[in-house]
Amino acid sequence: MIQKLPKSHNEIKKRIAIFPGSFDPFTLGHHTIIERALPLFDGIIIAIGDNKDKSSMWSPESRKESIEGLYVNDPRIKVIIYSGLTVKIAAEHGADFLLRGVRMIQDFEYEKNLAEVNRNLSGIETVLLYTLPEYSYISSSIVRELLKYHQDVSSLLPPGMILGTPKL
Ligand code: ADP
Repeated sequence: MIQKLPKSHNEIKKRIAIFPGSFDPFTLGHHTIIERALPLFDGIIIAIGDNKDKSSMWSPESRKESIEGLYVNDPRIKVIIYSGLTVKIAAEHGADFLLRGVRMIQDFEYEKNLAEVNRNLSGIETVLLYTLPEYSYISSSIVRELLKYHQDVSSLLPPGMILGTPKL
């Protein structure tokens, strides 16, 4: 079968991925996932989940500001705050892919179920990237825990990241 070629570049649909998460805060682990995923997509939307049932250390607005500061010079990256179904927000933003990261076997099982639920809901495909081993121990919860004890967390955050004032 001969496929119809697009008439112009404008007709080629952009490959947009949505990277949803709590990002409380956004860590070096998240940042490396973004950097490694950028060659795969035309654009990535970092979607901060505003989950009223889950307590967080930073407000969604503060998290958004910190992340935007990192990618201010990269027009391929957009940061949004959302609540509700991730697949719905993906569709609203024209994203055909969900981007997630996997650190260890526990993440894998959780991400596998999530990917299946989301595919069944809307047909969206999930792209999983395995974290580099040197970043696999980094998590938002470890950063929060260390901050409670006034420890330096700069090595766990993306270079140049400015954390807002915690709300707790
Ligand atoms: P959620 O509450 O949705 O799990 P997180 O902010 O904890 O949100 O994580 C968002 C995504 O980033 C998840 O897919 C998670 O597995 C991934 N992730 C978190 N930390 C790392 C890391 N160090 N390396 C790679 N991926 C990570």
